[in-house]
Amino acid sequence: MSDHHFQADGDRVLADLNALRAIGTYKTGVHKPTFSEAHMRSLQWLVQRLPEAGLAPAIDGIGNVLGTSTKSGPKLLAGSHLESQNFAGWLDGPLGVVYALEAARVINRDSCINGAVEVAAWCDEEGHFGHFLGSRSYVGDLTEADIDGAKDRNSDRTMREALRDVGLAGRARAKAEGGRHVGYLEAHIEQGDILESGGLAIGIVTSIVGIWQYRITFTGEQNHAGTTRMSVRKDAGLALAKFCVAIDDQFPASCGPRTVWTTGRITLDPGAPSIIPGRAEMLFQVRDDDPGVIERLENVLRTMAAEVSAEGPCSVGVERLRTGAPATMDATFQHAIEAASAVFAGSRSIRMPSGAGHDAQVLATIMPAGMLFVPSIGGISHHWTENTADTDIVTGAQVFVDACRRVLAG
Ligand SMILES: [Zn+2]
Repeated sequence: MSDHHFQADGDRVLADLNALRAIGTYKTGVHKPTFSEAHMRSLQWLVQRLPEAGLAPAIDGIGNVLGTSTKSGPKLLAGSHLESQNFAGWLDGPLGVVYALEAARVINRDSCINGAVEVAAWCDEEGHFGHFLGSRSYVGDLTEADIDGAKDRNSDRTMREALRDVGLAGRARAKAEGGRHVGYLEAHIEQGDILESGGLAIGIVTSIVGIWQYRITFTGEQNHAGTTRMSVRKDAGLALAKFCVAIDDQFPASCGPRTVWTTGRITLDPGAPSIIPGRAEMLFQVRDDDPGVIERLENVLRTMAAEVSAEGPCSVGVERLRTGAPATMDATFQHAIEAASAVFAGSRSIRMPSGAGHDAQVLATIMPAGMLFVPSIGGISHHWTENTADTDIVTGAQVFVDACRRVLAG
């Protein structure tokens, strides 16, 4: 039997991705918020495709689509997500789902391959209602109370209302069956420019960074902006601004090679032009794949806060809001992707961490997981201009299908 039986059909992959782009089109991208009409039609599109791969499709009670196989042998779970950020790109999510579908089409009907690929589209990876609600539901990390509390960040619609509106209320939620899968493999656009700038085709993800989030609060004294002399002011806003600059001065000495930090929101209280802010707050985020690095940086942050408070005139409080859990990608999966890249991408691959969060980090809490990246043109994503060259999409599909086959072969 010749090798071509095991290969992805590039034209079919591109046609599928374009079919998904035609649902909820916005300029050259898409607008598919979770549980929007366009999102639900995309889920239906997948449900109609899955039988081509010998998979029985179902949409569960949180909007996950799962295609399950009755073929004997080991089973590999593969997928990504189908909703998008608002007015965003066409590949973030669909690329991984279509690759998984293609792998299932190639592998599941081939009696020479022992085992099958099962396909998943996880709901709400983009966090319209929460964070990783679909994949967390599948791994058993989402309670009914979590769903009760989830709300659309763009409107006041609750998740319960949304589930009812799309006809999913009351359906059972699919849960991972212990021991069913040898692991989970996900493909995604890189959303950065490391691959493109290096002339590379494939990123072999080594880990997915954890996200640590902090609320840093500055307390001073609210007073009149005209009559209060500069020397006696306790300006919480000014203290915050200085603190931001000090972080940028001090973090480089303690951070790792790929640590990133961001002040995403600043609030001044009361926030009026003629009032000295008595209180100020910043939401601060740090990402890294090494908890040891974060521990070091958190100590720097707390020491800085203590020093500023001791010097006055304002006091500073640091509160950790979110503790990140970096996920290590399985070594066997990394090896399978690397071997597939040698065959289909001329070894134009690199091992790299993912700076963005993905469902694979959730699946990694219960089974071995791996991820593969394809280049993003200009490193752009979460924007409607997001794109990847067709040749890179096809190469990625071939590497993905071959990596699935290698994982199933053990
Ligand atoms: Zn994504």
